[in-house]
Amino acid sequence: MVPGIAPTITRYSLGMSKKKPKLGQNFLTDPSARQRIVEALGDISSATVLEIGPGRGALTDLLATRAQSLIAVELDRALAPRLTEIWKSSGHVAILQADILELDLAQARAMTGIAGDAPMVVIGNLPYYITSDILLRLFEQAASISRAVVMVQEEVADRLAATSGTSTYGLLSATAQMHGRVEKLFALPPEAFSPAPGVSSAVIRLDMHPRFEELHVDRTGFLRFLQICFRQKRKTLVNNLKSAGIADNADVFAVIEEAGLNAAVRAEAVSLESMALIYRRLHSNRGKHEKTGDSLAG
Ligand code: SAM
Repeated sequence: MVPGIAPTITRYSLGMSKKKPKLGQNFLTDPSARQRIVEALGDISSATVLEIGPGRGALTDLLATRAQSLIAVELDRALAPRLTEIWKSSGHVAILQADILELDLAQARAMTGIAGDAPMVVIGNLPYYITSDILLRLFEQAASISRAVVMVQEEVADRLAATSGTSTYGLLSATAQMHGRVEKLFALPPEAFSPAPGVSSAVIRLDMHPRFEELHVDRTGFLRFLQICFRQKRKTLVNNLKSAGIADNADVFAVIEEAGLNAAVRAEAVSLESMALIYRRLHSNRGKHEKTGDSLAG
């Protein structure tokens, strides 16, 4: 173990019932699934791979034989030392006992002494109790990541990959797709794990290509705007914007019309391109609304 790492266990007890395994520990036991997940990363022979939650090492040895270097971050104080023991004489594998939510990628590299500054490749059979937090953390660091292959609950995979205009599309889909292309690869039944989770799982691949520059929006402000647009899914986009106090009727209807949309449209039906157009127009009117409660400035 790398000395000096003091993990902070802040989220572990949040929202966990007694029946749920500690730290979201549903270990993958299906050998062909292990292979498929690692293969979904493509060629990693010259990449530094970050594995989130290696657990008992279901993916770790496959990754170690293929990657140029591997950093595996495990929070569990019993599992991490076991992995460290297995990999201690390997020069290209480092195990960090730490909370992935508290660690940034540059820090992980520095702590392990693994050289390089090329974007990393991320993989993990994610602990489901903090899936969204982990994804948001990865999105924040999109510039340091080339691609990610992660296992999530199937329902979350469907939301991440949903296209606008479908009922599954929502804030998570829009946020993810502002950071990259999302593809749902395959699903796995509960029996592929031990203990079996109460839900089906699916593997997604995320190719990081943030779209903020291309769509001429600032990241913080636009992500905040998306939150407002999706705040109440059943409400129209106009009503969500009005209740947030960021625009008046005339403004909102004018920009929605300019985007070629119906006045009764809901956020789930609006493409990211149109959302960005609406944001830019409202943002340029911001001066008029600075005195109201919510601002678009983030
Ligand atoms: N990769 C293993 C497998 O496929 O069998 C384990 C996957 S299990 C679903 C999730 C793993 O993430 C567990 O080993 C758990 O201890 C670890 N974990 C949970 N919360 C974590 C956190 N905040 N930071 C790092 N690892 C975490």
